[in-house]
Amino acid sequence: MTTGILFAATDVRWAEYEAPLRAALDTTGLPYALATDLPPETVDYIVYAPNSSLQDFGPFPRLKAVLSLWAGVEGVVGNATLTVPLTRMVDAEGLTQGMVEYVTGHVLRHHLAMDTHIVNPRHEWTPIAPPLAADRPVTVLGLGTLGLACAQMLRTIGFPVTGWSRTAKSAEGIRCLSGAAGLLPALNGAQIVVLLLPDTPQTRCVLDAETLAALPRGAVIVNPGRGPLIDDAALLDALDSGQIGHATLDVFRQEPLPQGHPFWAHPQVTVTPHIASETRVASASRVIAENIRRGEVGLPLLHRVDRAAGY
Ligand code: NDP
Repeated sequence: MTTGILFAATDVRWAEYEAPLRAALDTTGLPYALATDLPPETVDYIVYAPNSSLQDFGPFPRLKAVLSLWAGVEGVVGNATLTVPLTRMVDAEGLTQGMVEYVTGHVLRHHLAMDTHIVNPRHEWTPIAPPLAADRPVTVLGLGTLGLACAQMLRTIGFPVTGWSRTAKSAEGIRCLSGAAGLLPALNGAQIVVLLLPDTPQTRCVLDAETLAALPRGAVIVNPGRGPLIDDAALLDALDSGQIGHATLDVFRQEPLPQGHPFWAHPQVTVTPHIASETRVASASRVIAENIRRGEVGLPLLHRVDRAAGY
């Protein structure tokens, strides 16, 4: 029987994905129909972006799984009409590599105080060498696919790295802490904090006035996770008081970040427009095709979202 695959994302994404997705699906040997519009009773899988206009999964009686093109699934995980498995994007070649590059670059920018020398209008000679990475503790909140890969790269460079997760973890060379009791110890002493947590009710405002105050004075925040992980007002207060030295923010409660938002103008904030890492079309297509193949031969789907945990 033909496997029906509905592509439910924006038109721009369809234009990018159609050819690579067909190429990846062709390698599975499955007979399939792939389109942005299929009779609902013929749909087995939905390749999905949470910003799609499709929000009701009810009318698909044969649906076996929804396969998200995004790693962050907060926009679909709570959808009550979704009763089949949901998978999220884990794409080592594209998404993970891109995030490792973004995080490493921004951590090194702050570690090496690059701005001092890049923006130096008065041509001041300030011969202050940065410490070695070994003397700059970094904490990564979230030790999942992306957080762990970033933590390992930072560790390889020489930073002492602490990671924090919901469940207990171990990773070579990384100090691993978990659960609510592990948060303040993870932040204590961290000169740079990277947020790679999902947006769930439990992670919202993980950085608030109390946790920001637990950091050493002048600590730097790098947030490519999700906007709601930070209490914006508390962060602005901490930046104004010097408790936080700089915040590099890629994600926001409202995107695009509205004109006039205080983050745009704050001298100690760097705004990047949700570009930390993108799902890369070719490798993501292979991930989707492999999951459809697995589904069709009765293997468990990879990267299933735990609906109760919310990620
Ligand atoms: P994973 O699901 O692999 O990892 C999530 C991590 O967060 C896990 O270590 C998990 O713990 C931890 N976590 C979840 N809830 C809690 C909690 N309550 N307390 C402590 N730790 C918690 O996700 P990814 O690494 O793939 O992605 C992380 C996030 O990055 C995405 O959800 C998305 O929001 C964001 N992202 C941003 C992009 C960008 O361009 N800016 C691009 C892609 C993703 P445990 O290991 O115990 O489960």
